[in-house]
Amino acid sequence: MPILVMKFGGTSVADLTRIRAAAEKVRAEVARGHDVIVIVSAMAGRTNELVGWVNETSPLYDAREYDAVVSSGENVTAGLMALTLQEMDVPARSWQGWQVPIHTTSAHGAARIEGIDRAALDAKFAEGFRVAVIAGFQGLSPEGRITTLGRGGSDTTAVAFAAAFDAIRCDIYTDVDGIYTTDPRISAKARKLARISFEEMLELASLGAKVLQTRSVELAMRYKVRLRVLSSFEETDETSGTLVCDEDEIMESKVVSGVAHSRDEAKLTLVTVEDRPGIAAAIFGPLAEAGVNVDMIVQNISEQAQGDGEGPREVTDMTFSCPTDQVARARKALEAAQERGDIRFDSLEVDTEVSKVSVVGIGMRSHAGVAARMFAALAAEGVNIKVIATSEIKISVLIDRKYMELAVQALHDAFGLDKAD
Ligand code: ADP
Ligand code: ASP
Ligand code: MG
Repeated sequence: MPILVMKFGGTSVADLTRIRAAAEKVRAEVARGHDVIVIVSAMAGRTNELVGWVNETSPLYDAREYDAVVSSGENVTAGLMALTLQEMDVPARSWQGWQVPIHTTSAHGAARIEGIDRAALDAKFAEGFRVAVIAGFQGLSPEGRITTLGRGGSDTTAVAFAAAFDAIRCDIYTDVDGIYTTDPRISAKARKLARISFEEMLELASLGAKVLQTRSVELAMRYKVRLRVLSSFEETDETSGTLVCDEDEIMESKVVSGVAHSRDEAKLTLVTVEDRPGIAAAIFGPLAEAGVNVDMIVQNISEQAQGDGEGPREVTDMTFSCPTDQVARARKALEAAQERGDIRFDSLEVDTEVSKVSVVGIGMRSHAGVAARMFAALAAEGVNIKVIATSEIKISVLIDRKYMELAVQALHDAFGLDKAD
């Protein structure tokens, strides 16, 4: 029988009523003749609560124990979803990640799926079970410990199952009715897209649009999974939501197709580090080892370099950004490198009140002037840009957090995203 993957996020399984509504959607697909693999997230807010407990207990926690704790939210919803379906006379069984098993790397807190054992599910479908419910977000390391796939990781569980079982489609049910030109919670003018290319969605996700986890889009692109985002709060049919697909299946032709934001960024500057070959490696090596996800990097002439009275000294300032919750780790790694004598710096300046705003579009490959238009729109609102980064299809800026929403709205307007083609 054709297999369909249906994933329900946190708000879609927030309580027993929501779980029943989700189960109704599953039952309807079973009635249409599909075998269904259901992936569930933890109830809304539960993973945040678990992460909070871990941080309170141990700020620089052991990531193996972090995973032991934060993976647990999904166990509850998987069992409840299977029970709800059974109450509806739909033969269903639940599995936690280790039971399938879903093999992952041992990068705790950000593990990657390496393979899914089909045998247990295949056997159950062969016995006549119509639905397999899988706890999302979880995996099993080569050492035999529970891993998690990073925040938002149930999306990736869903796409990985769709690929492994050759599913006809992977439907991601959430609290919005599709993918929008920007986060609809930030701009009332955000417009729902009928389709978006894998590449653009990949950029938007990696730049902060949390509607899909980045890795899930990467997998869908690689394994050609038909990926759709739609609402669990509304009646839906085959045409609902937004399809993530190949570029050549898309009619829209805007230069910029979306604006993304990442709220909780931090900007760190190492003031007056030596300017010599190998200095970047000496700084970013220890940061990588400490698990800090460094994003934007700028090296610039140190203000202290001029006229410090000591004669010419080859120094530079090194600025980079990372998520705010990794600042403590970054500081510790840099101070340890300074103590070992691997790097020398006068001070470490930390600004935790910044956000990243980005514009994304495959049209940028063939159109000049996008950066100029973006900077002019921000200037018109009096928004100062602290750091800029570009790639072939995106431009990102780091700005003061208090201007984040204003910047998103201004850019959405400047690129005409509220208007259909
Ligand atoms: P779930 O719990 O279902 O996984 P998430 O909260 O992870 O849901 O993702 C859905 C949220 O993503 C929406 O509520 C919306 O605020 C946010 N979002 C950010 N950018 C976009 C976008 N471009 N289109 C749609 N939603 C977006
Ligand atoms: N519950 C996990 C989280 O909140 C995974 C997910 O919802 O996708 O990050
Ligand atoms: Mg999510």
